[in-house]
Amino acid sequence: MLQLVKPFIPPKEELMPMLEEILYSGYIAEGEAVYEFERRFGEYIQNPYSISVNSGTAALHIALMMIGIKEGDEVISTALTAEPTNIVILLAGGKVVFSDVDRKTGLLCPQSVREKITERTKAIMLVHYAGMVCNMDEFNKLSTEYSIPIIEDNAHALGSRYNGMLLGSNSEYTCFSFQAIKHMTTVDGGMLTLKSERACEQARKLRWFGLDKKTPRLESDITFAGYKYHMNNVNATIGLAQLSHMPDVIERHIDNGKYYDNELRNVAGISLIPYYPNTEPSYWLYTMLVENRDDFMRCMTEAGITASPLHLRNDRHSVFGSSDELPNLDDFYRDFVHIPCGWWVTDDDRAHIAGTIKKGW
Ligand SMILES: *Cc1c(COP(=O)(O)O)cnc(C)c1O
Repeated sequence: MLQLVKPFIPPKEELMPMLEEILYSGYIAEGEAVYEFERRFGEYIQNPYSISVNSGTAALHIALMMIGIKEGDEVISTALTAEPTNIVILLAGGKVVFSDVDRKTGLLCPQSVREKITERTKAIMLVHYAGMVCNMDEFNKLSTEYSIPIIEDNAHALGSRYNGMLLGSNSEYTCFSFQAIKHMTTVDGGMLTLKSERACEQARKLRWFGLDKKTPRLESDITFAGYKYHMNNVNATIGLAQLSHMPDVIERHIDNGKYYDNELRNVAGISLIPYYPNTEPSYWLYTMLVENRDDFMRCMTEAGITASPLHLRNDRHSVFGSSDELPNLDDFYRDFVHIPCGWWVTDDDRAHIAGTIKKGW
């Protein structure tokens, strides 16, 4: 069965000696490997203000704490995402205000977000779903106009671009995940990218009890409570091994994605998703809209191909309470599906997938 997601792990001969060395080095906690991973990741996405953490969820949580979300504050977000995006808003004490999506892309609609802004709105959470980039031209304007910070949940979009730049330095807060099934995995891990050294200092304290690692423990003073969200040298070592492979891994996702963009352009029963101006997706998944989705998925399964919507719309979870009508999401959610597109999909595989789809369902 052709999978939708699969972890890329560097070759044994390369990774195992690195892991062995760090495991027996006598220092496996947050240390030099972590700082080196932050430096190299920062070089890759061209933002030196990169703070590693132990999950993407932790990165989101710290971003919300830095904004100072508290009881009664509202965060505008999307229901079309993995649950952590919205669960952390509740953990931080905020209220999730679901906004509608653009019917054509499934990504948050700037106009709908604008309509949901109130005095209590403290942040806008954007998700570059499946690697497709939100309408950043419009969201940047909105953020400036209302002075509301944007958090980019970039868990699906390592390697995606806006204005030619890799995502990670556009907004005040960008959150990456290195969980098992993302483009790049450190088994578990995450990164929060920021805009200033001052913001980094605050984030470093928030990820480790409120302590500053650079100050000797016996001389330190905690002034606010932080979490235990730091990365360790073992996960960071896996990250260091991963980074040299990422350009190739991501290039293969993109090559497969562009192949489908071409091959499936005029297939009856399919609507491809347009990309916003100045954006380039990194195709974590290949997402499209299909007629008769159940029949489509059955037909794909019979041909040995996984096709699935993958995520439950988050407003279906009762923990978020009742939410407004989201008519565009209703339409998109009925028809959207993902097909395999990642680094493991070979030329033969993708030809088989496109061929199966063209035969109809
Ligand atoms: C995976 C994911 C996260 C959370 O990342 P973890 O590293 O698993 O904590 C957040 N948002 C989205 C959209 C994700 O897919």
